[in-house]
Amino acid sequence: MQFQNENSHGLIHPSESSGVVKALILGCGTSTGVPVIGCKCSICTSKDIKNKRTRSSLLITANNKNILIDTSTDLRYQALAHQIERIDAVLYTHPHADHIHGIDELRSFNMLQKQVIPCYGSEFTINRIRNMFDYIFTSTVNSTWKPEIETFPISSPFDLFGLLIQPIKVYHGKMQILGFRVGRLAYITDCSQIPDDSKNMLIHLDVLILGALRHKPHPTHLSIQEAVQIGAELKSKRVVLTHLGHNLEYAETNKSLPQGFELAYDGMEIVL
Ligand SMILES: [Zn+2]
Ligand SMILES: [Zn+2]
Ligand SMILES: [Zn+2]
Repeated sequence: MQFQNENSHGLIHPSESSGVVKALILGCGTSTGVPVIGCKCSICTSKDIKNKRTRSSLLITANNKNILIDTSTDLRYQALAHQIERIDAVLYTHPHADHIHGIDELRSFNMLQKQVIPCYGSEFTINRIRNMFDYIFTSTVNSTWKPEIETFPISSPFDLFGLLIQPIKVYHGKMQILGFRVGRLAYITDCSQIPDDSKNMLIHLDVLILGALRHKPHPTHLSIQEAVQIGAELKSKRVVLTHLGHNLEYAETNKSLPQGFELAYDGMEIVL
């Protein structure tokens, strides 16, 4: 199958965009997902749908384009659950399994769209993806048995379909990874520390979606308390906590959070 890459950088100037940005939390779970296989804890066995968390991913819709952040392990399920029938581009935060292992599902979108899908990430992330999924990049024959994607290493703000995408460097343990700011919204998943330069790019947002794994501190993820401190320091109007583990009961944790903070749930929609 021959695809044409219709990646339309610079099609509309950012200032000409309609301004409406929709974000859909496709998954808000940590790497295992919730319930955790075999776990009988009260949250893993909870009947509340908001305690069921697929692996973390966000869909941004703006200027009639669907931009996916990360191809989570659960991408197929998430696309079916939310009737997503088009992915115009993918932004990658980092190359951990839970954020990239759904990459093969991009095939279905190639078949629907008959286009190569552009994928953006740090040079490190792109190199890891190219090594881990070499079957995608080594075959010279276009076909339906592998995703047709094109990779673009990024390190600074760039225009995508008339939207300004700002990569934000954060630390996930010792690994430097990317978050993304799009207009008045930012998505910072797996994170244990945000350097000052990056904090300066995240001040006074309307919505900050920020990773928080559990109550107890963790070496590579923010705890709830640490995430609340950062959200308050950055003066975000609304902070949505994501990448949640199985120690966080939705209703109970939400009640304990200060005003302006809330837990994400799969299927949560944010409109700006
Ligand atoms: Zn993760
Ligand atoms: Zn559990
Ligand atoms: Zn990670």
